[in-house]
Amino acid sequence: MKERIVIIGGGFAGLNLAKHLDRDKFEVKIVDRNNFHCFPPLFYQIASSGLVSANISFPFRREIRNMAGVSYHMGHVKNIDLEHRRITTSYETIDYDRLVIAAGSTNNYFGMDKLAEETYGIKTVAQAAHTRDEILDRFERGALCTDPERRRQLLSFVVVGGGPSGVEIAGALGEMKKYILSKEYPELKPEDVTITLIEGAPSLLGAMRPKSQQKALEGLRDLMVNVRLNTLMTDYTDKYITFKDGHKEYCETLIWTAGVKGEPMPGLPSEIVGRGGRIIVDRYNRVAGYEDSLFAIGDIALMETPDYPHGHPQMAQPAIQQAANLAKNLNSGDFSREFVYKDKGSMATIGKNKAVADLPSYSFSGFFAWLVWMLVHLLSILGMRNKLSVLMNWFWNYMFYSTSLRLLLRPTKYPLRRHWGD
Ligand SMILES: Cc1cc2nc3c(=O)[nH]c(=O)nc-3n(C[C@H](O)[C@H](O)[C@H](O)COP(=O)(O)OP(=O)(O)OC[C@H]3O[C@@H](n4cnc5c(N)ncnc54)[C@H](O)[C@@H]3O)c2cc1C
Repeated sequence: MKERIVIIGGGFAGLNLAKHLDRDKFEVKIVDRNNFHCFPPLFYQIASSGLVSANISFPFRREIRNMAGVSYHMGHVKNIDLEHRRITTSYETIDYDRLVIAAGSTNNYFGMDKLAEETYGIKTVAQAAHTRDEILDRFERGALCTDPERRRQLLSFVVVGGGPSGVEIAGALGEMKKYILSKEYPELKPEDVTITLIEGAPSLLGAMRPKSQQKALEGLRDLMVNVRLNTLMTDYTDKYITFKDGHKEYCETLIWTAGVKGEPMPGLPSEIVGRGGRIIVDRYNRVAGYEDSLFAIGDIALMETPDYPHGHPQMAQPAIQQAANLAKNLNSGDFSREFVYKDKGSMATIGKNKAVADLPSYSFSGFFAWLVWMLVHLLSILGMRNKLSVLMNWFWNYMFYSTSLRLLLRPTKYPLRRHWGD
């Protein structure tokens, strides 16, 4: 009898674990609410119409078709029963011998939970596509609007959070304003569109070096993005943002990229959930009290070490590396390999031909950094067809500052009346 390993989440961590596990020894089930693996670093390009969801998503069933011993189960995990070693999803109950939680992270609204309903996000493919629809809808309505004040309201976009996601989506909106508006929206002038990026800290890209932070700031200002540092938002009610100093500003489109927390996993005892809603693990990604049967890897895992006292960065590399290390430990069964994170650096783009990059020993920026950024991302996307279609879209955008992807697709059940003002 093979041991049954159930992996919750088929993201960078979960899928890589499945690939590395010894399938002569284990029967592996990947449970994910989506039927595809996706590539979050490019979600901002979905939101800004640079790519479509299918370019950066890959069906699990296609990925695992040559992986004997691995199966995919669609379902949202509703409960984990640690005592009886079983999980319940929206569709079934699955028994396991070992459970690996690799469910990633979700938006953190820092207690302002109503923001989930009232703001736009880019944390999932669905959120990014919804944000894109809203942006396109506003450009079309703005183009029809004859009242200058109302047009300005329709076309004011506020991005909250100056990390890589916030910088990238603000930069992409800045490019729309600077380059696409005059070509495709002749009714609109650049001054009709306002893009504001709000960050509570004194600099953008807090995890990067000062030189890269400064380059990102300059790049965004060049794209006509209004960057406001040291600015903390405390509330968002009735379309008014309240700031820490008490003043309020009207804003209809708020894009939230200000923080993440571990994806909630119902059924887990509170003592194993730590800072930022992440599951506390030891140096082998095991959960204390359940060393034989419960593991967490990737964004959702909180492994506090002397080098990373608040846990590892919630980025793709720690997830991929933890998956590979846990697979080795599970395959050998001796748990002799502690996890040691090899930091390969971090990058962010500012528009279509500039990026900043911090490698472990040096930083660089500009066009060359953007080429490296493209190469790294292309290599990481699953599937040759996806790689080629992303490359083709980037080439086209680069040459013509234009895509054919600005399609506003509303599902038939979408409350259209809201848009027609009925
Ligand atoms: C917009 C954006 C930009 C980013 N840019 C970068 C970047 O440039 N570089 C970088 O290194 N990192 C970047 N990241 C972070 C990176 O994507 C994450 O660190 C990485 O995806 C974590 O991998 P993971 O496997 O832990 O989680 P994920 O890749 O998020 O996978 C989690 C999986 O679990 C599934 N899941 C969650 N909850 C449930 C449930 N209850 N039931 C069933 N399934 C569930 C989800 O559907 C998902 O497939 C970015 C993230 C975002 C959102």
